[in-house]
Amino acid sequence: VNTTKTALVTGANKGIGFAVARGLGAIGFTVAVGARDETRRNQAVDQLKAEGIDAFGVALDVTSDESVATAAATIEQTAGRLDVLVNNAGIAGRTDGGAQDPTTLDLDVLRTVLDTNVFGVVRVTNAMLPLLRRAESPRIVNLSSNMGSLTLQTGPVLAAYAPSKSMLNSITVQYARSLADTNVIVNAACPGYVATDFTGFNAPRTAEQGAAIVVRLATLPDDGPRGGFFDDEGTVPW
Ligand code: NDP
Repeated sequence: VNTTKTALVTGANKGIGFAVARGLGAIGFTVAVGARDETRRNQAVDQLKAEGIDAFGVALDVTSDESVATAAATIEQTAGRLDVLVNNAGIAGRTDGGAQDPTTLDLDVLRTVLDTNVFGVVRVTNAMLPLLRRAESPRIVNLSSNMGSLTLQTGPVLAAYAPSKSMLNSITVQYARSLADTNVIVNAACPGYVATDFTGFNAPRTAEQGAAIVVRLATLPDDGPRGGFFDDEGTVPW
């Protein structure tokens, strides 16, 4: 019996996803580094391995049915089951020329952002659920943002990105309700404002700081919360 737990992190080649992979690897998980670009994926795997972490690469574009199905097959072959899924891959979408001002919103930008940040999460989650159900204490963590909070209404006006995270939070609740009678625990995390490519490295928090709440939710005890939205401080109103 394989007692080592396996975690898949989507978009794990850089930023918060890489820090989550490193954080879970440091506490003993075997990490499946989900990334769409082969070179960036291999570099991330090599770096994690150099730090003593058990990691392997999984080709994964969350917008592709075929890629996601192949990724699930790869994980099944390599690990036989999945203990943790971190849906981290996400995009802000174009903002030039008023592309994300609601009054001039480019519908293609809206489609693209929803395709990755929302449809991608559903696609990956449903492909991985059969493997997650084989685990003893499966956990799913969705990377959301307080910009998706309908209560806080924080951050710049971004009419594709912010609603994508509101919808992700809503879908997180639907998953939690659907899986209420199972051992699969699903929550959403807000990493705070983190210095990554996403923010042009112009933000106060490090990727490690952003990853901390994700690692916490990925390792919740069996009586942990379900369907919530959390940051370092606790529940985020949304
Ligand atoms: P980065 O831009 O640094 O990293 C995003 C990751 O997602 C990259 O690995 C990227 O891969 C991957 N990705 C994007 N599209 C796809 C796709 N179609 N298939 C597979 N992988 C994909 O961003 P962050 O690390 O900052 O953000 C990670 C998550 O955290 C996102 O969901 C974001 O919305 C959320 N978040 C970030 C905040 C911040 O302040 N940074 C604040 C709140 C939430 P590639 O290298 O190939 O492009």
